[in-house]
Amino acid sequence: MTASRPVSVQNICHYMQQIAPLSLAEDWDNVGLLLGDEETIVARVMTCLTLTPEVAEEAIELGARLVVTHHPLLFSPVKRVNSTTAEGRLLLKLMQHGMAVYSPHTAYDNAETGINQQLAELMELTEIAPLRTRPASVFNELYKIETYVPELQLDVVRQALWDAGAGALGNYRNWSFNLRGSGTFLGTDKSRPSVGQVGRLEHVEEISVAVVCPANRVEHVVQQLRLIHPYESPAIDVISLKGLPDGTGTGRYGRLSKIMSLGELNQWVGARLSQPTVQFVGDPLMPVEKLGIACGSAAEFLRDAHRLGCQALLTGEARFHACLEARDLKMAMILPGHFATERPAMEELACRLASRFPGLIVTASVKERDPVQVQEWASRSDVMSKAMIRLEWIGDLIFLPVKTRDPCSSINLAWRLESAIPHRRTRH
Ligand SMILES: [Zn+2]
Repeated sequence: MTASRPVSVQNICHYMQQIAPLSLAEDWDNVGLLLGDEETIVARVMTCLTLTPEVAEEAIELGARLVVTHHPLLFSPVKRVNSTTAEGRLLLKLMQHGMAVYSPHTAYDNAETGINQQLAELMELTEIAPLRTRPASVFNELYKIETYVPELQLDVVRQALWDAGAGALGNYRNWSFNLRGSGTFLGTDKSRPSVGQVGRLEHVEEISVAVVCPANRVEHVVQQLRLIHPYESPAIDVISLKGLPDGTGTGRYGRLSKIMSLGELNQWVGARLSQPTVQFVGDPLMPVEKLGIACGSAAEFLRDAHRLGCQALLTGEARFHACLEARDLKMAMILPGHFATERPAMEELACRLASRFPGLIVTASVKERDPVQVQEWASRSDVMSKAMIRLEWIGDLIFLPVKTRDPCSSINLAWRLESAIPHRRTRH
């Protein structure tokens, strides 16, 4: 049996960037290796949704030198790290133990196999596509570089292009397209042509060789090409491929395997995410065929989902006014909780890291808990009867019971009351 090669923080960072390229992160986000030394050798890694003091303690006890946390530390700029703030104390502790922290956050939300895609697959959606297609960023923007060389020099020139960073496309390297053709030139008195004679129209058999190149390598590749090219003034075309859709984007939407009522869909979502309670906005009887998905706290995707013909948006949590907006759009919202929509993907990530680095022990935090708890203080019928008592007492205004747990269920309750007594007004 051969011993596994030691794994450094850098090795894991590189793999994380294959799973969730940092170019997919939102502009406002803070992603990547946020703390620690890339050279640190790690034997144990922990994943979590949020790096709280309890989770940090667990990682330290287990001897994990790297924590991959979905939500970033150091999200807001800091001017000092000291023990007077909770974040400062946490950072100091992590540093004292020589730990590293990596956060993929929105890069992982948006990635091809990231959280939103995982949720869409878990809900068994078909025809899955992004809710918002991203414009190509400078890092995934591609150019095509094309030049013309005599066949004899083709291999050397093409290899130089590849060595300089061109020719990589997705999971492939050494990509090129080669086309045979005929070129002409006439060298003036001051020219020094490598083939043919000065002052005579020359016809040369050439190969047109084209390679793709990321935007940030174009300058270097062209420089190297000029150095290696046999011609004194080689023709080099640099063509921008900017604007081509790259297939990535934020959020997901798709078609359910069968049309469900919102009530059935709530149960389906709850069962798939192991959530016994699910908040929602909308008519429980309304049919849903297309579902939008945006993990975490992402009601800002309501209008995108609406524009794409979705009847409902599944997101973790939403503010009161977003719930009202959903109701105005006649859209349903399903809110199983921020934790429930994101934490399972960090468990999945632990499995992926463990299978990629067999010598490494990778586990998801077991101490991490959803900070939001649910207490059933009364049955649904109790809530309804209390509301009706107040309704009778007040007259033509319907007041919602003050003890109702949250605005979303209030909205649903309001809708039910409105439907029951359509000529009455509702006030929140
Ligand atoms: Zn989140």
